[in-house]
Amino acid sequence: MAGSSTAISLTDLTIAAARDGLRARHFTARELTEAHLAAIARLNPRLNAFITVTGDRALTQADAADTALSRGDFAPLTGIPLAIKDLFCTEGVRTTAGSHILSPFVPPYESTVSANLLRDGAIFVGKTNMDEFAMGSSNMTSAFGPVVNPWKRRQDADAVLVPGGSSGGSASAVSARLAMGATGTDTGGSIRQPAAFCGIVGMKPTYGRCSRWGVVAFASSLDHPGPFARTTEDCAILLGSMAGHDPKDSTSADLPVADYAAACGRGVKGMRIGVPREYRVDGMQGEIETLWQQGLAWLRDAGAEIVDISLPHTKYALPAYYIVAPAEASSNLARYDGVRFGLRENGTDLRDLYERTRAAGFGAEVRRRILIGTYVLSAGYYDAYYLRAQKVRALILRDFTDAFAQVDALVAPTAPSAAFAQGENMDDPVQMYLNDVFTGPADLAGVPAISVPAGLDANGLPLGLQVIGKPFDEATVFAVGAALERAAGFDALPQIRAGA
Ligand code: GLN
Repeated sequence: MAGSSTAISLTDLTIAAARDGLRARHFTARELTEAHLAAIARLNPRLNAFITVTGDRALTQADAADTALSRGDFAPLTGIPLAIKDLFCTEGVRTTAGSHILSPFVPPYESTVSANLLRDGAIFVGKTNMDEFAMGSSNMTSAFGPVVNPWKRRQDADAVLVPGGSSGGSASAVSARLAMGATGTDTGGSIRQPAAFCGIVGMKPTYGRCSRWGVVAFASSLDHPGPFARTTEDCAILLGSMAGHDPKDSTSADLPVADYAAACGRGVKGMRIGVPREYRVDGMQGEIETLWQQGLAWLRDAGAEIVDISLPHTKYALPAYYIVAPAEASSNLARYDGVRFGLRENGTDLRDLYERTRAAGFGAEVRRRILIGTYVLSAGYYDAYYLRAQKVRALILRDFTDAFAQVDALVAPTAPSAAFAQGENMDDPVQMYLNDVFTGPADLAGVPAISVPAGLDANGLPLGLQVIGKPFDEATVFAVGAALERAAGFDALPQIRAGA
């Protein structure tokens, strides 16, 4: 199949359709990969979604995929071009975590999640930009410059919008069709919020479902690897490959991985769907409340029963998150001392080397988190802050456990607003932290959740609805998410994209 118009349309395919097209030999993995690399070459200078593009490697992988396909040797993702958040260590490929301190770091090993994707035949086109060490909601904290959201406001089309964060490069790349899917991590919302801002699907599975081994640690008890794609089915296919027990991560769950793609077709008839009343917060964009009601009506029409639910400790989730996450981060980031990994600034003695390296290597937001974290863990304040936050966390988990005794899943907005512009929300870190108001609780509780694009605001920007489920019941989360997706029929396209 030759000709640039055909090559460009390959970037519009879903993963499911591309898999079928590859197996039927309608096009080759090389053609599919070249189409995505061409899109990256054209649009990445505008979007800055990738820190590293691995074009040669991708083509080598594509040729291997074509050889396998020609033998009829299919794995679930054979020949599918994906992007990998630059928090996942990739053997022989620079992994920066969006930080200057790791800018020279080339890992000698592959993360379990990315290794699982490679095992299943995926092709990696590159490593995506992100907030430094995954700390942020806008991608403005990356040492490699901000990522641009491919969507534009109808009014004020010149405004450059953020893709959300911290997995903003992955979300922007998938939305603009530079990759068919991507990996992300969600510690306080970093998969679901950028998915909502960029009009795509993002899934955070249960804590322990995807191994954290080889993922640069932010807050170990909160870090959840998960997939991005443009449909729920594609996310389900990706999660099926990414998930699974890993003896190298002691918190990895040794539980069977269901057929998530099949679950997308299950429907919601007879399900009980909870509406958490505490998620109705002041300052939420009006259209989001309307879309939420619309989403509930769609599910009712599809045969679900809608039930009012209370998660009484919701208002304490954000304060607890912004104690626990920085505490764990301050401890995890102690390893960047200029001796073992990445950047080294020489000093007059060892202590001076540490100080110079860390001062030169970490950006402002990371330093803020380290300061908060060391403060709340310090001997005099540990009980007052860290221990209390852990108790609040237990109460938040209990809220979910009580709710799930009554309902199969919860439905709520993903974020309190549509994508904002670069520069907005930047003066006050606390304002930025409010982005996590609907996503943080599911991270603290470790329960699975998906964001599905469900509509547009008055300015033509995508808005997401979130489905939260029981621990290890990703299948139900996919079933409800897919039902919302079918009812919403979301087919709006970002202005910046391959083929446009
Ligand atoms: N916005 C949150 C933070 O800055 C969440 C980030 C994340 O999920 N990695 O901590």
